[in-house]
Amino acid sequence: MHPTLKGAVYVTALFIGSEIIYQIYRKYKRKSKHRKENESKSRLSKSSLQVLFFPDKDVACRDYFISGDGCFKSNCQFSHSKTSLSELCKHMMSSQRSLDVCVFVITCRDLADILLKLHRRGVKIRIITDKGMLHTDGSQIWTLQKEGIAVRTNNSSFFMHHKFAIKDQQVLINGSFNWTRQAITGNQENVLITDDLAVTSQFMAEFQKLWEHFDTS
Ligand SMILES: [Zn+2]
Repeated sequence: MHPTLKGAVYVTALFIGSEIIYQIYRKYKRKSKHRKENESKSRLSKSSLQVLFFPDKDVACRDYFISGDGCFKSNCQFSHSKTSLSELCKHMMSSQRSLDVCVFVITCRDLADILLKLHRRGVKIRIITDKGMLHTDGSQIWTLQKEGIAVRTNNSSFFMHHKFAIKDQQVLINGSFNWTRQAITGNQENVLITDDLAVTSQFMAEFQKLWEHFDTS
């Protein structure tokens, strides 16, 4: 073969070879990027959504899950295992900056105590609740208000019937669940906890709208 032709064949072969390697490399990179995106999507969906159902079969131990000091009773009759209430408490207790609560009624001492604990820790608590339920048996609103927590109520004859809370302007806790003892141990209830911004942002806006609407000062 003529040396010039031989050279041209080598160059062409080299070019084709490097092109094939480059295409294989691109395909591998695309696959790897796609795999990483899928992994991060699945991690996000796992960490951003939780569903709780009530009633709890066992009643969560207040000392173990709420007081923060732990339970030292040798034969404690309450549950030290995970329950829906303990999970709900965990989410509430992890509030760092704010907890906006918009619920029909609060009679459950455990949940009210968490609000007090957070308030004393410097977390900004705002509560919107139903005016008609302020005087219901066991209402915790007066205690919370006395401690300096801001409370606003509806001023119409219709119910303020929401049951949601927003933690740190990021995590929504929402469902059928009223903040009563009966809802924990008796009723069939659901609570959905999510940090999906598309959902939480709408609830944040609704809370702010109601907060301003119910301002009587
Ligand atoms: Zn216990």
